[in-house]
Amino acid sequence: MTGRLLLFWDYDTQWGADRSRSGNGPKAWGEDEFVNTERLLPLLAEYQVPSCFAVVAAAARAGDRPYHDPRQIRAIHGAGHEVGSHSLHHDWLPGLSASQLEINLSRSRELLEDCIGAAVGAFVPPYNQPFHYPAALSFSRSERREAGRTHIGFSELCRTLKLTGYRFCRAAYRPFPQRILEAVLRRPCDYPGALKSIAGVACVRLNAGCGFADRSIDMVRRCAREGGYAVLYGHPHSLSVPGPQSFDCLRRTLAIVKELVRNEQLQVVLPRDICAPPVTVAREVFHEHH
Ligand SMILES: [Zn+2]
Repeated sequence: MTGRLLLFWDYDTQWGADRSRSGNGPKAWGEDEFVNTERLLPLLAEYQVPSCFAVVAAAARAGDRPYHDPRQIRAIHGAGHEVGSHSLHHDWLPGLSASQLEINLSRSRELLEDCIGAAVGAFVPPYNQPFHYPAALSFSRSERREAGRTHIGFSELCRTLKLTGYRFCRAAYRPFPQRILEAVLRRPCDYPGALKSIAGVACVRLNAGCGFADRSIDMVRRCAREGGYAVLYGHPHSLSVPGPQSFDCLRRTLAIVKELVRNEQLQVVLPRDICAPPVTVAREVFHEHH
């Protein structure tokens, strides 16, 4: 049985740094997103690991760093990686109205498609939220407290993604029984992931925390043994910071991944590989026929 790896890069840029929710207000790491991506692309090429870059779409508009760099986004696409949407401005989705969400999703997709000249079908929610997904027994009291009773949940997000032409969404909800078990055992209880269709959108949950520490390597090895998806992610701007998202941890993980791929125990896949063919065609192509 061959395991599968999905690797994501949340490309937040200064739009995300301005909207940081990790305390102490806005951050200043926007520039690092671009500088570290310049080092990241040759590294991914060296280990032959394609990944999905979830890009804050406002960064695709013309302008300068640390808010914009459409050329780098085209370079990411040109290197064979997938470009997905990470919303328009790194927005906190649970707090949007239904119509704001719809505009945000369709506008971000159009901006990115115009930038790279290819279809965009993958979406990665900023802050990994909404967590609220009652159908899988995942409830978020904080989202409800902060965004009110009409907050956007994961089902609404997927329905709107489908409506606006997306085919894939990374998920992070944690079912209540899993959270109980984790509280009792006092450790994460993740397992190899499976694709799940929610409102017609292919979804797969994060199952290794953030970055490339032992927990992520263990999940990759486990999927290589047992099958299923290992779903990893990091931020380019954090590659230069010591810790689980550092260049050192990444390099160690990439070497293991390359070895498992060579032994045919692991396959590195992109969201576009595991979804149905695109429902929308890039407008450049569209124009050729009209
Ligand atoms: Zn983000």
